[in-house]
Amino acid sequence: QAFDFTEKVAIVTGGGGGIGRAASITLSENGAKVVVVDLSEEAGLLTVNKIKENGGEAKFVKADVTKEDDIKNYVQKTIDSYGKIDIFLNNAGWEGKIMPLIDYPTEVFDQLMSINVRGVFLGLKHVLPHMIEQKSGAVVNTASGAGLLATPNMVAYGASKHAVLGMTKTAGVEVAPHGVRVNAVCPGVVNTAMMRSIESGFGQGDSAAAETARKQLEATTPDGRYAEPQEIANLMMYLVSDLSSHITGQELVIDGG
Ligand code: NAD
Repeated sequence: QAFDFTEKVAIVTGGGGGIGRAASITLSENGAKVVVVDLSEEAGLLTVNKIKENGGEAKFVKADVTKEDDIKNYVQKTIDSYGKIDIFLNNAGWEGKIMPLIDYPTEVFDQLMSINVRGVFLGLKHVLPHMIEQKSGAVVNTASGAGLLATPNMVAYGASKHAVLGMTKTAGVEVAPHGVRVNAVCPGVVNTAMMRSIESGFGQGDSAAAETARKQLEATTPDGRYAEPQEIANLMMYLVSDLSSHITGQELVIDGG
């Protein structure tokens, strides 16, 4: 056990996904009670079951992060079950389509912004009041290297992650006087279902072309490989622990160089 999250209550959105599952399990291994939030009941419950098999405490709440009522519901269920929120991993996201800006479907742009920007905003809006009230809490928004650099063929995704960094800075400054911290992680390429979908998008559905896309994406990292979800989770643990008590409003890049 590297961190002490005993008696801490955590919410992880996208907790059924690659990074969210690794983070949820690690939070639990270090003592936290975890509310796993996801659109996919199957994926979210799998995370909860893994935590319970290890003797941890967790609950699943189904939510579509684009819907404000769903956000209010996961916040209220957490308060009803555990009485507080100490840790919030605002992590659910979607990659959208892989195509040039001039061909990018407007409805996909809107849908992606709704998940990656509106969803993150609503999470902050409804979780932060509880942290402000208790004068403590730590949030990590999952941004991306795509929030810092150009993302050819992923215009909506890149724009959305730039927006996540903007919200992180604003929220970080606004809540700092209350003893609450808000940071963002910017992973490069991570070995999750999202990357399978991105590889397939770059390969235009052809499996050999998807494999080529994977090799090209791996080659974009100086250490020549995808991150494992656990490596991203490890940075998140640091950012929600007291070890990072004077870090807020920041973007931490984790991309192999
Ligand atoms: P993933 O696809 O494994 O997980 C994403 C999860 O979000 C899924 O479980 C999905 O069901 C959930 N989700 C999607 N839309 C939702 C909605 N409307 N409401 C609630 N839940 C929803 O992908 P991942 O790699 O674990 O991604 C987690 C985060 O990391 C995302 O924000 C992603 O943009 C970011 N990220 C991923 C990479 C990467 O290379 N995989 C790199 C940088 C950043």
